[in-house]
Amino acid sequence: MPKYLTLTDYAQITGSAPIKRETHGWRAKCLQRLVRLDMPVPQTIALSFAVVREIATGAQMNLRHLLGHFPQGQLMSVRPSAEHPQWGGPAAILNIGMNDEKHAEIAAAYGEPVATELYLRFVQSYAAHVAHLDPDMFDATEPCLPALQAALRDYETEVEEPFPQSPAQQLADVLRSMARAWEGTSARLLRQAKGAPADAGLGLVVQAMAGGIGAGESGAGLIRFIDAETGMPQVTGRFKSRGVHALDAMQNGENVLYLTRDKRGPSLEERCPDAFAELLRHGDYARTRLREEMEIEFTLDDGKLWVLDAVTVQRSSRASVRVAVDLANAGIIERDEALMRIQPKALSELLHRQVDARARTEQFVRGIAASPGAAIGRIVFSSTAAQACASRDEPCILVRRETTPEDIRGMHSAQAVLTERGGMTSHAAVIGRGLGVPCVVGATGMQIDERRKTVRAGGHTLSEGDMLTVDGTNGVVLIGEVALLEPALDDRFTTLLDWADARCDIGIRANADTPADARIAREFKAQGIGLCRTEHMFFEDDRLTLMREMIFADTSEDRRDSLERLLPMQRADFIDLFEIMQGQPVCIRLFDPPLHEFLPHSKEGLRFLADALNKPLSEIIRRAEALSEFNPMLGMRGVRLGVTIPEIYEMQARAIFEATVEVSRRATPVAPEIMIPLVSAMREVELIKSRIDAIAAQVRSRMGVDFEYRVGVMVETPRAALRAGDIALHAAFLSFGTNDLTQMTYGLSRDDAGRFMSDYVQQGVFPEDPFHTLDLDGVGELLQLGAARGRKAREDLTLSICGEHGGNPESIRFCRELGFDYVSCSPFRVPVARLAAAQLVI
Ligand code: PEP
Ligand code: MG
Repeated sequence: MPKYLTLTDYAQITGSAPIKRETHGWRAKCLQRLVRLDMPVPQTIALSFAVVREIATGAQMNLRHLLGHFPQGQLMSVRPSAEHPQWGGPAAILNIGMNDEKHAEIAAAYGEPVATELYLRFVQSYAAHVAHLDPDMFDATEPCLPALQAALRDYETEVEEPFPQSPAQQLADVLRSMARAWEGTSARLLRQAKGAPADAGLGLVVQAMAGGIGAGESGAGLIRFIDAETGMPQVTGRFKSRGVHALDAMQNGENVLYLTRDKRGPSLEERCPDAFAELLRHGDYARTRLREEMEIEFTLDDGKLWVLDAVTVQRSSRASVRVAVDLANAGIIERDEALMRIQPKALSELLHRQVDARARTEQFVRGIAASPGAAIGRIVFSSTAAQACASRDEPCILVRRETTPEDIRGMHSAQAVLTERGGMTSHAAVIGRGLGVPCVVGATGMQIDERRKTVRAGGHTLSEGDMLTVDGTNGVVLIGEVALLEPALDDRFTTLLDWADARCDIGIRANADTPADARIAREFKAQGIGLCRTEHMFFEDDRLTLMREMIFADTSEDRRDSLERLLPMQRADFIDLFEIMQGQPVCIRLFDPPLHEFLPHSKEGLRFLADALNKPLSEIIRRAEALSEFNPMLGMRGVRLGVTIPEIYEMQARAIFEATVEVSRRATPVAPEIMIPLVSAMREVELIKSRIDAIAAQVRSRMGVDFEYRVGVMVETPRAALRAGDIALHAAFLSFGTNDLTQMTYGLSRDDAGRFMSDYVQQGVFPEDPFHTLDLDGVGELLQLGAARGRKAREDLTLSICGEHGGNPESIRFCRELGFDYVSCSPFRVPVARLAAAQLVI
């Protein structure tokens, strides 16, 4: 015996009805707000989640009570009302109650075409969404009487019953099909992907169709009061005279009026000035009272305005920022609320060019979105070709199997970089983010043929010179030139971030290696440089040869001689950085990579080097082979080089101190921070620090000037984190390099993990790529242990993070909870970090 549901557990939407978002959904709640604002909302009934659940499980419905709220013969609509608009819901069904009798009645009053259009549209949506018939059978575009008759006949043939004529039965069927659609597997998966819990409920809103078919000015429309792309105040939308429904109106484009005066055609403002003025008032009222920019769906019935619905305007990130700041400036919301309304990650869309979502695109290959932004250029396969393009002012895309430090100039010259291998912390990704160059890595679906100068993916073969568009925000590469949107760093953006800074209680610094990076860091108001990777400074052409000379030096004297010539160049680099940063802290990391990275990789390059160094090729090859390592990331690099070849760090320390003296003399005093990479034992720090102190003493006495400096350690090996207590005795600060720390904690190569990372994430082995999102359980525990042990040994120890995770809102939260002093991230992520950090305080 089926359960008999009287549906008395509904609420008529009035100002005082017990409607809550958690029980009746966002739409019902929003309609109630409109009613409270005295907007002319037609009679509306809200069914709660509980009632809709009962309907879905097959409860019999007696709708007499509910229908009693509507006049006899009233047409109705039913719309979904989930707890959050993003969770979706089944399609709205309009004009319920249309039948043969109503058709005749409307035809007599307002003409057959209007009646036919209403009836046909209803039959079409009923057939598709309620009876689940093939929508193609019912897609007659011309709403004429023969089309209506055909639709009714087709319905009867398919269902073997005439089209239902009873409004109560129509309504019951619509409610049941919408309630069941919500329970379907695909609807559930879709909403869960948008953050809905497994048991999310659906409310339904039954509303009287308000006119739109009267004798005087009648129709339906949508109005917005901002431009959804820019957020600037502007009336946009459409009105369809005598229309059936605004959304249909947009599709059909007939009898469509502009809203405001427009040279291209008639407007609602001219035809119905009173209703138009009333709409503007409602928009204003919605803004001040609902504290949001709303899009209002309305109808006119003989000139009388009805408000059917209002939803917040879907808008771009750029528009979100402008609206939030404007609402706060108008005193409608607090500044804190404006800050909370913007997703930090959305800000990175404003900093770079983006692929226009409206553009037609053809995908070439997919990969990991390693550095955001979009760029267009011609394919080149080598850094030399990229530089040649740049010299001709020709935009290019550097396509490589992977990049190495040798490619740095090529990357500087390219508009974007695409690599077959690599992950979030591989060379191309780190450098791309630092330079603000869009980058897609780990595009394993493509094969590069360097000899033929072609690249193949998904059935397409492209050659050098062909056009590509790289979308580094979404990790997609598109064939040809695609329309892009420009960045939007306007005054609203700056204002929002100034408000963020006023709330932030953790420092935000930038990882900056070059003067250009440092300038961007200043522009984005970073509070200093948290990581300057000095090795990049040695890849400039004139320095690379000297560097190689140093590597091939036979004696310590020869090595010192080459370094002596590198010293003025390093000093000039540091002078530049200190000047740009104007007294803000600058943390310089001593030389880190294995030396063989500076050697040529091709036979031709080795021959060229033999020539330059005036040594036999055989010796060059032998020495290069001797330098190669089986596992270079765990080999002779970082502090290990510093211990075994002390001259390099000594030269760097001298360059830093001499630059300090020079800049402090003519500008703001500088107190550099010197950071030792890849430490795993306390003695390494002790040794290097004593050598740095000795150099400082020499520079002080030679130049007759005193200066301050601090020496600290980069925690990148698990052992350094575990032994942080010992290490802190010799270090003023610890900065966690979570790229290497993640690599070593997992035993996962940061350059190769891209090959299988998507399989690992898809199969749930890792919840996310740990090079992208800090692994709080494992790597995080090392941060926690290291921070606690370090601080226990030395209370005034400065703690920070400088791996790529430093710009992620989740990592910032974690570091803040551990009492870190600052986070440091790529310059372009600084704004994101500033906002994320402020939100943690609010
Ligand atoms: C790190 O390892 O986290 C780091 C910042 O250094 P790099 O990426 O240069 O190895
Ligand atoms: Mg490192």
